[in-house]
Formats: sequence, structure tokens, C-alpha cells
Amino acid sequence: MNLAALGEFGFIERIRRRAASVPAVRVAIGDDCAALSLPAGELLLTTTDLLIEDVHFRRAFTDLKTLGRKSVAVNVSDIAAMGGVPRYLYLGLGVPADLGLEDLDAFIDGFLESAAAYGAVLAGGDTCRSPGPLLISVTAEGSVAEGELVRRSGAVVGDGIYLSGTVGDSALALHLLQRGEVPAPALAARHHDPTARTLLGRALAEAKLPSAMIDVSDGVLADLGHLLEASGVGALLEEEALPLSALFREGLSADPSRIELAWSGGEDYELLFTAPAGQKEALCALARRLDLPLTRIGTVTANAEGLSVRTGDGRLLHPAPAGFNHFASGGQPSGN
Ligand code: ADP
Ligand code: MG
Repeated sequence: MNLAALGEFGFIERIRRRAASVPAVRVAIGDDCAALSLPAGELLLTTTDLLIEDVHFRRAFTDLKTLGRKSVAVNVSDIAAMGGVPRYLYLGLGVPADLGLEDLDAFIDGFLESAAAYGAVLAGGDTCRSPGPLLISVTAEGSVAEGELVRRSGAVVGDGIYLSGTVGDSALALHLLQRGEVPAPALAARHHDPTARTLLGRALAEAKLPSAMIDVSDGVLADLGHLLEASGVGALLEEEALPLSALFREGLSADPSRIELAWSGGEDYELLFTAPAGQKEALCALARRLDLPLTRIGTVTANAEGLSVRTGDGRLLHPAPAGFNHFASGGQPSGN
């Protein structure tokens, strides 16, 4: 059976029966709008990301359940980057005729499983037939106390620049898949099933540690570039400090030029943030508590100094913020 046989409303009813609810949801799926409440005094955070078949994902590379999980994670990651708590999700689907109901159900399984893991509720959406690719549009809403909102624009000269987790794994997995190779399962999972750093984003914001923050979707250099521009500052990065996984280092030893994937590959969904030098101890304690490495990769400098990277052998490079640009020709699928 496919969507045509079940009908749009049959499909929506199927989703409605499975979507969880919480007391803050006054009206859920099934009316013209969802009616929702937020904790008193908190700001509403809203973000949308599109996932388009053959631009952001290939059905040959991922199963639909994992794709459902990823559609949630990439959106929730933006809420994490502002220090917020994810609360509500909306799912817009353009469904091609050849997508079977089992695949749709698997997608919804993954979507709801991931939503629950981040504490968010599916509160609405829209469902249509697509004459071409599978289209997935997810909107996430979260909230944050005004005093805890973290923006891209607060970095000041002398702040440390930090990254959570490791970078490059997702881009290396995609690179291998595109060459027809099979990445190690843990590497592939970083691409197909990324984890949004919601607990870290909240903990950092609550402790008021970051001066500025962004999630790494387009690549470390590109996303740092956005943060530097918004803050009106420059940065000096240490190449040797870039946090790389054991699997990434293995791939790197086969081809040293793959270091580019760690700088510019994208879809890491780690948090990149700046914090005053005096917060080092607090950051170490938080990293231990969350069991997630936080690595200092450089220092915020004056705007006039731009962006430079000091290599292991002491050279100073001035890279362009070369993240994936959807409108450049020859680009490969990458982050949102
Ligand atoms: P309308 O025509 O008023 O936009 P719809 O028939 O599109 O209403 O949707 C009916 C209800 O089903 C709404 O609550 C909407 O949010 C929900 N809905 C539709 N598609 C989805 C979906 N893919 N996921 C979750 N909720 C959905
Ligand atoms: Mg509608």
C-alpha cells in the first residue's frame, strides 16, 4: 500500500494516533492549528530545515527510519545552539508515488523515536504528494529564558574557541559512500544518525558560559565564519587541536588531504562556541559531567586579523570559510 491508497487523511490519522502529548499541548494534531503553551517568560525559538532527496540525502544510502531520526536531529541542533529546550515539531512531507507505506511508517517511527529522545512532541505538519523527490520540511520550536539566550554575536577578543565532540566523521562517511566504499558503522552513523547536542547547549546556556555559539552544519570554518562575522572579530585556530575521532584519523592516514573534511565537510552537528578564558575550569567540569569532550581549538582575535590557522609545522594559513554552498556548482550534498 502507498499514500494514494491510504489517503492523506488516513495517513494523518495514523500519525495522530502515535504522536505523544504533554500537558503543554492544549490542541494537538487534528485541528487547523496546534495550540501550545510555553513556560512563563520564556522566548519562543523557531527553526526550519528542508531535507530534499538527492540534495541532502540519497535513499540508496540510508534507511527511512534513520532518515526520520536525522530530520529531527538537524532541526533540534539549531535549538541547542541558542541554548534552548526543544519542545514542538512540525513535519511537512512531499511523498513520491513510489514510496511505500512501510517506508513512510519507518520514517515516522524514526521521527517519533528521536523526538521523544529530545523531549519534543510532534504537534502538526502537512502532507502532499510529490511529483519528484521525497521532500521533508521540519520546523522545530523550543524555548529559552531571555537571560540564557546564546547568539552568534557575543564573542570578544581573547575568548577561547571550543568544539564539542569530534568533527569530520560525517563528511568522511559521505566521502567514502560517494566513492562506493563502505564506511565503518560508527562512522556511517555519524552521517546518517547524528546526535544534536541539546544537553550540552542547555547546560552551557544555564551556566552562562558561552559568549557566542553556533552548531556545525556547514563545516567548522564556514560556521565559525558566521560566528566571527556576527561578532565582528577574527580567530587564530590551531590545526593540531582539531578534535578528530580514531576512525577519522585512520581515514586521514590513508589520505592526508582528508583533513579538509574536518575543517569544511559539515553535518557534524557539534556545538562551536566561544567563552572567556576564565571559564576553562567550569568547561572542564561540564565536559566531565556530560561525558562529552570540549576542546579548545583557538582564540578570538581582532577583526582586522581575519581567520588564520596555525598548522602543526608552524605555518600560518588564511583559509576562506569554505563550507558547502548550495548555490555553488559542483557542490556535494551537505548540511542544512
Ligand atoms: P489544513 O488543511 O487545515 O492545513 P490538514 O488536513 O493539512 O489541515 O492537516 C490536518 C491536521 O493534521 C493538522 O493538525 C496538521 O497539523 C496535521 N498534519 C498534517 N500532516 C501532518 C504530518 N505529516 N505530520 C504531523 N501532523 C500532520
Ligand atoms: Mg494542511
